[in-house]
Amino acid sequence: MSSTTAQRTQRSSPSGISVLITGGGVGGLLTALELWRRGCDVRVLERTNTTTTAGDSFVIGPSALRMLKHWPEMKERHDQIAYEPMFAKYKHTGERLTEPIKMGALYKTKLSDGHPQLLLHSRPKFHDMLLEQLTKCGVQVEYGKEVVDYFENTATAKGGVVLKDGSKCEADLVVAADGLRGTSWNLVAGQPIPARSSGSATLRTAYPAELALQYPEVAERFQLEQDRSSIFQSWAGANLFGVFWRTDEQMMWIITHPDTGTAEESWGHRISNEAAIEILSAIPNWPKEFDRIIKATPPDSIVDWKLMWRDPQPKWTSPGGYVVQLGDAAHTFLPTSGNGGTQALEDAVSLAACIAIAGKGRVPDATRVHNLLRFERVSFIQAMGIARRDAKAASNNVGVKPKPPPIPGAWLMDHDPEEYAEENFERGLAHLVDGEPFQNTNRPLKVEYRPWTIDGLVGALDKGETTILDGDWS
Ligand SMILES: Cc1cc2nc3c(=O)[nH]c(=O)nc-3n(C[C@H](O)[C@H](O)[C@H](O)COP(=O)(O)OP(=O)(O)OC[C@H]3O[C@@H](n4cnc5c(N)ncnc54)[C@H](O)[C@@H]3O)c2cc1C
Repeated sequence: MSSTTAQRTQRSSPSGISVLITGGGVGGLLTALELWRRGCDVRVLERTNTTTTAGDSFVIGPSALRMLKHWPEMKERHDQIAYEPMFAKYKHTGERLTEPIKMGALYKTKLSDGHPQLLLHSRPKFHDMLLEQLTKCGVQVEYGKEVVDYFENTATAKGGVVLKDGSKCEADLVVAADGLRGTSWNLVAGQPIPARSSGSATLRTAYPAELALQYPEVAERFQLEQDRSSIFQSWAGANLFGVFWRTDEQMMWIITHPDTGTAEESWGHRISNEAAIEILSAIPNWPKEFDRIIKATPPDSIVDWKLMWRDPQPKWTSPGGYVVQLGDAAHTFLPTSGNGGTQALEDAVSLAACIAIAGKGRVPDATRVHNLLRFERVSFIQAMGIARRDAKAASNNVGVKPKPPPIPGAWLMDHDPEEYAEENFERGLAHLVDGEPFQNTNRPLKVEYRPWTIDGLVGALDKGETTILDGDWS
């Protein structure tokens, strides 16, 4: 190991591996950091012309945040921006149904290293934190570089991308981290596999808290509790599923509603406050202070975000193994899974660990083993998000008693994707090459993994049939 003087992070000796990462979202940025740490020479190509600060908040689980042990400077920054809110359930009329508990306590998992269970983050701040660290490592995201196609050349052992201007770039490894509309499916699957509407959309925003707190009834309801935030209020009933909370800086609310075709899969698609209030006016006994929260939202700040999904795709690697998909480009998550960001970050850590073990001569082994170690875990968590959404939707219909979604055990949060890759790489490779038996342990151990499709799963849930969500998820 050699250490750089500019950072307090230990960087491995040069691996000789060049990496091209498409997409400077959180998945792409952590991939760049982790592969830099492993001695790779990284480039990040981003379509937008500059860094984008859109978005509100996301939950990141401890399994992804364990990577901070390698990044002391970033950890300091992280601890300033992360918070662990209290959580409580409410009726749509505003009545509290459960006592507030730490959000992570919902999972009932005791973490072996005492890590906080679930932390909330402003997505723009988390994104900035990664970007700041990457800059300290001397890597600049290359903006205005839109990738339109992917290719590989097994004879020269390179992957590559075609940019919108027709130019091409190659590297020993290409990581497609270009989000859920990414174009790598043509190479990976031989055809486009577009994400489609899930039938739901979310209204969501984050704005300066003082604008909402000028109303005494809002200030009263959203007092700061522990850890610099109010209670994270989860509301359900009368066709509403929403969350409302605030920090010392921001008021935030997210309301899921049926997608009537007006929503878009874009963090830039806004609707007016009046339109949001109209959607909510259909809800009987809707508390007036919540209209206040919406009216107080600055104009042009409410995003109407179409929730998209794609059937789980077991193969994330190109035929030759020099291009690998990562994050939303490989797998879509509903917000009810609380895992879109976490799994993208876990992917980054796992891929970098596999590359470090395999080394320059075996990049395809690394991408294929990474895929083997990640797919079933991700697929179980995707299914959990769908079950949670359907349970919430069904709870709004009189007389329908949905099966409760499974509560995952320690395998979900008490997981370290780096250790897991290091412990399982060789056995995973032996499985792929020689057909040796191999079973992943980073997913519900007592449930047999069976391939599923979204329509099949949703249909089975509606009919109360047995799915991979049944059984012991502990
Ligand atoms: C602007 C933005 C705001 C978001 N806000 C929230 C939020 O508030 N709450 C939440 O839960 N989730 C949010 N998300 C989604 C969440 O961050 C991701 O679902 C998750 O973290 C997975 O990250 P990812 O890096 O795989 O994908 P993404 O975060 O989607 O990143 C993909 C990146 O690839 C770039 N890209 C796309 N196409 C190309 C191309 N052809 N060539 C080059 N680059 C390309 C995109 O511009 C983007 O920067 C947001 C995503 C974005 C892009």
